[in-house]
Amino acid sequence: MQLDLLRTENLKKIPKHMSTISSSTLTSESVYQDIDRVYEKQVNMLQALKNASVKDRIKKIKKIKSFLQQEEHLRKLEAAFFADFKKPATEVQLTEVLPLLGHISEITKNLARWNRPQPLEVGLSFTGLNAKVVYEPKGQVLIIAPWNYPFLLAMYPLLYAIAAGCSVLLKPSELTPATSQFMDDMLQQLFPDESVKAVQGAIPETTHLLDKKWGHIFFTGSPMVGKIVMKAASKHLASVSLELGGKSPCVVDDSARLKAVAKRIVWGKFVNAGQTCLAPDYLIVQEDLKADLLRLLKQEINTFYGASAQKSESLARIISDKHYQRLCAMIEDAQEKGGQIVEGGVFDDSDRYIAPTIIDRAVSTMQLMQEEIFGPILPVMTFQKIEDVPDIINQMDKPLSMYICSSKNAHIDYLIAHSSAGGTVVNDFLMGAAIPSVPFGGVNNSGIGKAYGKHGFIEFSNERAVIRRSFGHIHFLYPPYTKRVGRIIQLLKRII
Ligand code: NAD
Repeated sequence: MQLDLLRTENLKKIPKHMSTISSSTLTSESVYQDIDRVYEKQVNMLQALKNASVKDRIKKIKKIKSFLQQEEHLRKLEAAFFADFKKPATEVQLTEVLPLLGHISEITKNLARWNRPQPLEVGLSFTGLNAKVVYEPKGQVLIIAPWNYPFLLAMYPLLYAIAAGCSVLLKPSELTPATSQFMDDMLQQLFPDESVKAVQGAIPETTHLLDKKWGHIFFTGSPMVGKIVMKAASKHLASVSLELGGKSPCVVDDSARLKAVAKRIVWGKFVNAGQTCLAPDYLIVQEDLKADLLRLLKQEINTFYGASAQKSESLARIISDKHYQRLCAMIEDAQEKGGQIVEGGVFDDSDRYIAPTIIDRAVSTMQLMQEEIFGPILPVMTFQKIEDVPDIINQMDKPLSMYICSSKNAHIDYLIAHSSAGGTVVNDFLMGAAIPSVPFGGVNNSGIGKAYGKHGFIEFSNERAVIRRSFGHIHFLYPPYTKRVGRIIQLLKRII
């Protein structure tokens, strides 16, 4: 990693002529006034955005691509990530930039088709009527983003909102100030405020934003804050997409190809230092494989991060002191309750470093098994028969993802049929958030609504049904309700 590119002086360059809404530079009152001013500007722009052609929307989206194709911008983005949580530059490219470019390509290829009115079959009883769905933008969109993939998770919903013809106020996370500033600068450079604008801030600013009337709110974050967002949205009955988290299980049975599985688990769990909504949260492995799997997991951790992971340039750090302390407390609690550290367990306050850690003999009373871990700790439980696994999984809220490592179709089908999850990946990890055309999202506690591809476009669109009569009528069903009307209804009941 080229450390000279990562100096903080590379980070914060806001051209003087640009205005920025940020609680750190203005008093709270003026921040609120600025938010209100931009909000009003966006209200006045809605019709023009709605009228914008597919070509114009794609042009806007491609501006982001061109911006990200400039080496100077990429280096600044990497530097911002390093300043925020030492996220390795390669991981920034792999998990933040590359997937975003994938969404840009998905949208630019398909938007014309997605946006085309969809004719609908109406059936014989409605002869004379034509029906179609036309897609209209939901209007003003608020996007609230988390810190763990602070660039991708703020920018990808923005693409779909632009594709649908909406205006966007984007509230990035306050826990990644350098990356949030990068996005703020980028959006100011690319778009007028009345179309897209970042509003930086924490809870007070978000609360102020949530008080407003929105066409749609797209929130990515914890289930706890998701409930606050949903409650606020109910005031004006704004629709919501809630991309939340949860405890995503990983089941490994005796037919799994252990060596490949171990490598993939280590990647899926420890990328971004485990701070991934879709990370395999805990392992449930068939009892007689456990020793072999643990040995292979340890080997792979060593291959990935060397003998001392703290010296590795491939491992990010924990985002904040609060999360660092939370994770350390989880390890201590697990040890007190009989958990056995078989790998890692080492931490360093000065660096918010936690080594990739595996804890065997996990039980449901441990904090590790009660909350989403969201860090580089992997608890391990075991099972004897596949029929016992759903009971373990279903004790917890429905997860965002479920991972099954198996070659037995009967086991895979059984687990899918006896559980529920936002998505499921067999014999690989994190792919549920990797393919732009595949719907991504949770279920109940892990989320509401699906993003990505056409689903992402629809999330920001009102599917407006337009029905038109070309000929015929149904006057024969109008009052007075004579016996003849009754006979026609009987007839219709037979052909409907
Ligand atoms: P968070 O819920 O703490 O914060 C998310 C956003 O909400 C931030 O912008 C924050 O400023 C704002 N916020 C926080 N508290 C608020 C409050 N009281 N009122 C109004 N706004 C508030 O989440 P986080 O810590 O940034 O992210 C971690 C969580 O996000 C995990 O649960 C993870 O699973 C989930 N997540 C889900 C996905 C997904 O796509 N499903 C992706 C990434 C993260």
